[in-house]
Amino acid sequence: MSSVFLPVRIEFGIGSSTRIGSEFDSLKCKRVMIVTDKGVIQSGLLENMTQSLADSHIQFAIYDRVLPDPNIACVEQAKEFYFSEQCDGILAVGGGSSIDTAKAAGVLVTNSEPIMSYTGIDQIKNQLPPLITVPTTCGTGSEVTNVTVVTDENHFKKPIISSYIIPKVAILDPNLLLSLPPHLVASTGMDALTHAIEALTNNIQNWYGDSCALEAIRLIGKSLRPAAANGNITDLGRMLYASTLAGIAFTVSRLGLVHAMSHPVSGFAGIPHGVANAVLLPYVMSFNLVGNPHAYALAANALGISPQENEMAAAVEGVKEVIKLNHQLGIPKSFKALGVNEELIPGMIEDTFKSGNVAINPRRVSISDVEQIYKKSFSGD
Ligand code: NAD
Repeated sequence: MSSVFLPVRIEFGIGSSTRIGSEFDSLKCKRVMIVTDKGVIQSGLLENMTQSLADSHIQFAIYDRVLPDPNIACVEQAKEFYFSEQCDGILAVGGGSSIDTAKAAGVLVTNSEPIMSYTGIDQIKNQLPPLITVPTTCGTGSEVTNVTVVTDENHFKKPIISSYIIPKVAILDPNLLLSLPPHLVASTGMDALTHAIEALTNNIQNWYGDSCALEAIRLIGKSLRPAAANGNITDLGRMLYASTLAGIAFTVSRLGLVHAMSHPVSGFAGIPHGVANAVLLPYVMSFNLVGNPHAYALAANALGISPQENEMAAAVEGVKEVIKLNHQLGIPKSFKALGVNEELIPGMIEDTFKSGNVAINPRRVSISDVEQIYKKSFSGD
């Protein structure tokens, strides 16, 4: 059995974001809340879009107080802003933090309970207001996914999953990534790679998700290094497309242990999502290989590893390739190098097992397995 439900139109192309006004016009919106952060504004990424809205006689109000790993206060504030500005649609412009804030604020606009009452799967009752997403990083895939992640008062990052959260339109404009600094191309690109590898290798088999994941891995293997090194538009465009494909892959095929373990690292220690995933990815892959050598061999081949004598040999080469990629991109191999306190590990282990991604991991996981993986990723051994 394989099921796919992804009701989002995807527009890809250089300059595509300059048509945002006509997109909202087709949705019959008159006044749009733009959800973004200060970094995006300072990079000048809104200018063409606000001009396009004005040209289409669509008013807008900008909510620019998005913070990394958006929390309850941030999404409630965005909802209040929507009502006080009398908006009738939402435009999210930015990375996953801006898009997730927009999605969660949208949930609160049409659903009356506190945001945390909607955590888990299919708890939302009503459709969100019209939402268009314009990603400016190349990692989360949130522009097309059915999930928003909100950090609670105990620093737990909690997913809210529902097909109502899937945006109406995602506009992928490679121009908007030209200002992304190399370290953010690197870390968000590794986030996309993690999504694709976990979706491909976990216990959920979905032909559509697996195809998207494989193509995403292939594009990332080819373009992440040059995109980070040179910032050329062709490779940035491939990375943007790859991160959306990886988002589609994990919407239909879900994730695995890297995400179960990385959310606590971001929630407790403030390590950016892409960096936390990138550091954990090779350690979790090494642990998981025996659970699905076939899929890990496919991932390795898509990353550019030539055929080996058997699947396990290819899978092992795939882990080495990910380690090399992290190194070449300047991503540290341990959380110790990032200054994270090892005393956080017990709380992180507890949080890991609250994630639905543990049950679908390709290899069964015990508390002591997670402890060992955290210890390795902290020390770098
Ligand atoms: P982010 O949105 O936190 O942005 C990181 C920084 O990049 C910000 O300072 C921002 O100003 C800056 N920035 C963004 N685009 C820029 C550009 N083009 N030029 C210059 N600066 C730019 O980073 P992210 O990694 O995209 O998002 C991480 C968040 O996404 C986490 O909260 C994570 O949980 C969430 N996430 C959500 C999903 C989902 O499907 N909903 C999936 C994965 C991750």
